[in-house]
Amino acid sequence: MPDLFPYPPRPGQAGIVRLVRETVRNGGDAVIESGTGTGKTAVSLAGALEGVAGTGRKVIYLTRTKSQQRQVAVEAKAIGARAPVILVAIQGRSPATCPLMTDDPSLADGTAEELSKLCSELKKGTGPAGQCPYFEALGSVESEQTLAYLKGEHPEPEEFFVYCKERGICPYETVKRLLPYADAVAATYAFFFEPNVLRHFLGWLNIQLKDAVVIVDEAHNLPDYLREVNTCRYSARTLELVAAEAGRLGNPEIAQGLTVTDFVQVIQDIIGAAQDKFLHGDDGFLPPDYLNEELMDRLGLSTTGITAAVKGLAECGESVAAAAEAKRRLPRSHIGALARFLTAWNACDENTHVFLIIGGRNPALESFCLDPWEVAQPLRECRASVHLSGTLAPLEDYARELGLDQADCEIFPSPFPPDHLQVVYAEDVSTKFAELNGDPAAFERLRAETVAVCQAVRRNTAVFFPSYALMERFIDAGVPDELGRPVYYERAGMPQEDLMEQVAEFRMAAGGVLFAVSGGRVSEGLDFPGQDLEFAVLVGIPYARPSAKQDALIRYGQNRFGSGWEHAVKVPAVRKMRQAVGRLIRSETDRGMAVILDRRAATLEGLPAKPVSDPVAAVRSFFGAASRPPGP
Ligand code: SF4
Repeated sequence: MPDLFPYPPRPGQAGIVRLVRETVRNGGDAVIESGTGTGKTAVSLAGALEGVAGTGRKVIYLTRTKSQQRQVAVEAKAIGARAPVILVAIQGRSPATCPLMTDDPSLADGTAEELSKLCSELKKGTGPAGQCPYFEALGSVESEQTLAYLKGEHPEPEEFFVYCKERGICPYETVKRLLPYADAVAATYAFFFEPNVLRHFLGWLNIQLKDAVVIVDEAHNLPDYLREVNTCRYSARTLELVAAEAGRLGNPEIAQGLTVTDFVQVIQDIIGAAQDKFLHGDDGFLPPDYLNEELMDRLGLSTTGITAAVKGLAECGESVAAAAEAKRRLPRSHIGALARFLTAWNACDENTHVFLIIGGRNPALESFCLDPWEVAQPLRECRASVHLSGTLAPLEDYARELGLDQADCEIFPSPFPPDHLQVVYAEDVSTKFAELNGDPAAFERLRAETVAVCQAVRRNTAVFFPSYALMERFIDAGVPDELGRPVYYERAGMPQEDLMEQVAEFRMAAGGVLFAVSGGRVSEGLDFPGQDLEFAVLVGIPYARPSAKQDALIRYGQNRFGSGWEHAVKVPAVRKMRQAVGRLIRSETDRGMAVILDRRAATLEGLPAKPVSDPVAAVRSFFGAASRPPGP
């Protein structure tokens, strides 16, 4: 196998390719922090493909989002110019991959489980729902023709979906049939870390876990993702859907004298009581046995009686789902979902989970997973795993948290000129909660300094707030008007298309300002090359809000690493800030500056920020030295 790296190498790139290749050849794990410009996707894919060459093993490239698969396809195409390589990108069922969902929009909000169930039934084609025409049209898609298309064109996922659409065949099933021929697969995290999905996925690939080589992209997200996989949550609003479904069914009995509505009422009462007794601020700890004991107490049932009631709910849910499936509808039952939640809640271990009541407009019960170790098990069983991110330090903690105790941990700095980026912090302001909320003058100082720093230079500027709440406070205080420049927004819960529209307008507006949050979609996932973004203002340190969940994570970090605050609060905040600053430099010619408006930056390791007494002068000095003269 030739050297597969498809570009003239920048400093450090050959080292990463070598590390990945040797890790894959020898088996093991590599945890790599690689700075901007190291070409993480190209170096890891080339190294891993060199490592599996001639072994029959396959590379599974895991991305957090579907859109990140595009970059993997682009690099596979570049590598494909040097050697015959087949990359297949697989995504879950969506209107893009399952044309039946486009035909019938009522399927569009189906869960992966519901769609999988309906799809299985339609592929069999023996039930009342009939057969899926896109599956029927499939024929032998693994023919030489489709393979030749993959090898020759190296299509991006969207192009492949168009190819299938033009032939009237199902993209999802076509991809599955092509997987055995792939050298590398781009997949989202769920394909590898959801146990039920992984089993099928390996079957489609026709390999065993020990023959899989896994690359984890944007790996700093992985521990939280794995916690989420093992967390279960149930909200008061969902209970209303259960009650409505029960009403449509004539309120069925699920155990001796106990109807679905009785059961729902009791859980609603338990949530209310838990709020009164345990909620402090956003959330509160529940005793591990709280839910079961309350259910037994309020319903006058033994443990066996509760188990029978949950079984009754599950059976009722199954018949609702089967009836829907027969009519080509999503096999959905809210009653069945309640049964699954109660079963999952009871399976949670108090050594790895905390049980919480969550407040707010839609209160919920949550069993929150603290320890990602268990869900990370496939990483410890595969041939090799490579974890990359621009912001992964401290690497040893990351490896230990996932149980990769022998991992090779290395940092590769950015090959771009270090003086192209300057990060400074102001010493006279802070977003410390007690300060900002107890002293109106402190907020006014911060507001005035933010405006002054933004006005120091008219370059495309992103202002990153530590929370949406503080952003709103700035908006209410009239900051956008005061800036006198077009201002664009990343808002909480904003649909992706609306955000992209705001970002596109920001890029076009010379001297525009983008209000966003540290740790949000702008700061973590978007590229702003050249003059699209030259200046970042970080208003404060994005520490997580104090909460019971946060306290539990601090305790967990203390037990696992001997540094609870560091692990649960400081490191995630620094990562978010580094991600935000990282938006500034995307190529060797980019120059950018970040100003942190919080004196507490002095206490953060891993953030190369220097103190300045006059941030406005520092900004003017930096941009004054730039090739382009500063605006008014
Ligand atoms: S076979 Fe394809 S188009 Fe048909 S239901 Fe399944 S995923 Fe959708």
